[in-house]
Amino acid sequence: MTRFLPVPDYHMHTPRCNHAKGTIDEYAQAAVDAGLTEIGMSDHSPMPNGFDKAWRMDESELDSFLEELEAAQQKFKGKLLIKAALEVDYYEGAEAYIQYLAAYYDWDYLMGSVHFIGDWGFDNPDEVSQFEHCDIEQAYIDYFRLVELSAASGLFDSIGHPDLIKKFGHRAPTGSVAVLEAENKMLQAVKQADVALEISSAGLRKPVKEIYPHVGMVERAVALGIPFVYGSDAHAPAEVGHAMQTCLQLLHQFGAVEVACFHKRQRKMFSFVEQV
Ligand SMILES: [Zn+2]
Ligand SMILES: [Zn+2]
Repeated sequence: MTRFLPVPDYHMHTPRCNHAKGTIDEYAQAAVDAGLTEIGMSDHSPMPNGFDKAWRMDESELDSFLEELEAAQQKFKGKLLIKAALEVDYYEGAEAYIQYLAAYYDWDYLMGSVHFIGDWGFDNPDEVSQFEHCDIEQAYIDYFRLVELSAASGLFDSIGHPDLIKKFGHRAPTGSVAVLEAENKMLQAVKQADVALEISSAGLRKPVKEIYPHVGMVERAVALGIPFVYGSDAHAPAEVGHAMQTCLQLLHQFGAVEVACFHKRQRKMFSFVEQV
């Protein structure tokens, strides 16, 4: 029989982003209780010029974030590895600031995520009505183009929830060749830049009720040899490790037997499959 070992959960938030709850200790304890041996704290990073200010930590909070993180690392030593990370928004023009963030601390990994197409925060519940007034096929193409650029920027170790555009269940026309091409260009950029993709259970908790990325994209990414990390995108301690086995099953179904972990921005692969 094949069993899947617990893997790191590399996506979780703290109240500094103004839309999550729980201390780092509480996330860590939840991880230990769920049988995990490694997590990554990856709160929404500061961004320049007031970008999406309400939904992320302020730059002035970075030091307290790191202090709380280092204290938790000490407290859970020997029980749980807690990696220092950020979920950084990617948009064109943010590159210099992201380099500044990268140099700010000895991070274990930086995850790049696209939450905006231009000034449209397409995953924000307050802005969901814009799907009614836009060309959804074009939105998908624009979204994957930005994810492609985020990978090609070389600024990130992993790419968060790589088809987030589907969050509220709005779908590009079935069989759209243009969307498939945009997805494939994105995957090529990910492969080229040697970046990992996140397989995220968060979509299962959203209206789309589906893992990010969708099954076809997982299949193509595995075939290309693109490494994966797992993330729950927990915004509360109870969500840590959510649907990990379901995500691993999906990877395994297409032949993947390893996921990535990061230490000081160096990637290592390890097997999550155990024969019992
Ligand atoms: Zn969030
Ligand atoms: Zn995100």
